[in-house]
Amino acid sequence: MMRCTMCGREITNQDANYCDYCGTALGDAAYREAQPVQPATVTDAPKEDRVSTWLFLGAMLLMFVPVVGFFAHVGILLYWAVATSVVDSRKSFARAILIYEGATLVFTFTIMGAMLAAMT
Ligand SMILES: [Zn+2]
Repeated sequence: MMRCTMCGREITNQDANYCDYCGTALGDAAYREAQPVQPATVTDAPKEDRVSTWLFLGAMLLMFVPVVGFFAHVGILLYWAVATSVVDSRKSFARAILIYEGATLVFTFTIMGAMLAAMT
């Protein structure tokens, strides 16, 4: 004999989806109502994030490929920084890297220039 989880009354009809007395969902109906409805679009966001992590890593590692790697690296970052189709998080990250690398380059050349000037 089945018993209603809400009001505790015995359910005489074993196939009933709802309690005759209080209307609480039973059996299959209760199971269905307990499942959260997940919109299909929610699963897309984490997937995109995972892919961009590897894309970023790939773009950063490109720098270590001799000659062409550096230009490919800067090219990809420049593309991400300006392309309208690129997601905002990637765009701002690419800009941050470009600014950081630009500043590092300027700093390095300044130090090298100062050292060369000191030697002569
Ligand atoms: Zn009930």
